[in-house]
Amino acid sequence: MSSTPRIITIANQKGGVGKTTTAINLATALAAIGEHVLLIDLDPQGNASTGLGIDKRDRSSSSYDVITGALSLEEAAMATAVPGLSIVPSTLDLLGVEMEIAGTADRVLRLRNAVRASAARVGLYDYILIDCPPSLNLLTLNSMAAADSVLVPLQCEFFALEGLSQLLETVEEVHQTINPDLAIQGIVMTMYDGRNNLANQVVDDVRAHLGDKVYNTIIPRNVRVSEAPSYGKPAILYDLKCSGSQAYLQLASEVIRQERKLRAA
Ligand code: ADP
Ligand code: MG
Repeated sequence: MSSTPRIITIANQKGGVGKTTTAINLATALAAIGEHVLLIDLDPQGNASTGLGIDKRDRSSSSYDVITGALSLEEAAMATAVPGLSIVPSTLDLLGVEMEIAGTADRVLRLRNAVRASAARVGLYDYILIDCPPSLNLLTLNSMAAADSVLVPLQCEFFALEGLSQLLETVEEVHQTINPDLAIQGIVMTMYDGRNNLANQVVDDVRAHLGDKVYNTIIPRNVRVSEAPSYGKPAILYDLKCSGSQAYLQLASEVIRQERKLRAA
């Protein structure tokens, strides 16, 4: 389709808010709709890689190789069981990469340079999604430097907004210093439990604060979604009909609509 991919990093320095689940299932949903998608796993934990069925022994190339410059993005990418979805998996090597590149002038620009070199050369992908570690570390900064936008999963819990201002400040800082194109793609509320009154209050509260930045789609808490990774499958392949899968498909349509508007403007 397009010549330049839309690059979206999925970030929140809090752990367990649904970043990886969103990365896997939004990527799968976009691919199911017919987009060509690359997911870059930038978390040393490698949960996105495992969740997409990439066995640890099969990770002969990884995001570590991309950050260190040993491999191009294309060279590091692997096919997944999802047609149209490739992944650059992560390995534990990534844990040490911060120290390795800390002293280099381009330490924040490693991923940006790799992605730009690749995106300029071949229009292989419509979307590149990046799954971040639960920290505002050098890896997350690399993802923000490389991306067009940041998608923030917020868990529907009492402290949902806590830490968000720090995240938004970081986005603003990257925007002002290294990546003037960086914008907020949107905020997606995750693990919503309609039986819990508090969840509704949290959603209202987040909408009151962040308004139209918040996606209409709310991802429900759904046991099928949490079971799927142990089968090495995205929820959408594991159980297409479950409420979580349906919500991620709806989120993908929202993202695509957003993208069409941007391109038309
Ligand atoms: P993060 O990447 O932000 O640390 P994860 O995506 O790994 O968060 O999610 C944290 C945990 O919550 C995981 O065990 C995951 O399976 C579970 N989880 C995420 N989203 C949902 C959901 N919509 N319904 C049920 N469980 C979920
Ligand atoms: Mg994660």
